Amino acid sequence: MAKLNQCQSCGMPMKKSGEFGTEKGGTPSEKYCHHCYQNGEWVHPDASFDEFYAFSLKKFQESDMNRIEKFFLNKMYTKKFLKKLERWR
Ligand SMILES: [Zn+2]
Repeated sequence: MAKLNQCQSCGMPMKKSGEFGTEKGGTPSEKYCHHCYQNGEWVHPDASFDEFYAFSLKKFQESDMNRIEKFFLNKMYTKKFLKKLERWR
């Protein structure tokens, strides 16, 4: 069974290598995406949970999804969903 890599900060599914974040020194992170985590540090270290949620939702809405995907995104990408990820537990 293939392991699904999902960013444990924003929930983005990560497939291509460019989508993974990086640890200090440049090794790819298995846990976090490049929007959240670069060079071993958070990209938005000072963002509160609410700010981060708004920021991530906007990021997904601006990505190249079709209208149906966006419809489901708006239903599923809730604060409750985000709270389940490792960073916000
Ligand atoms: Zn992320």
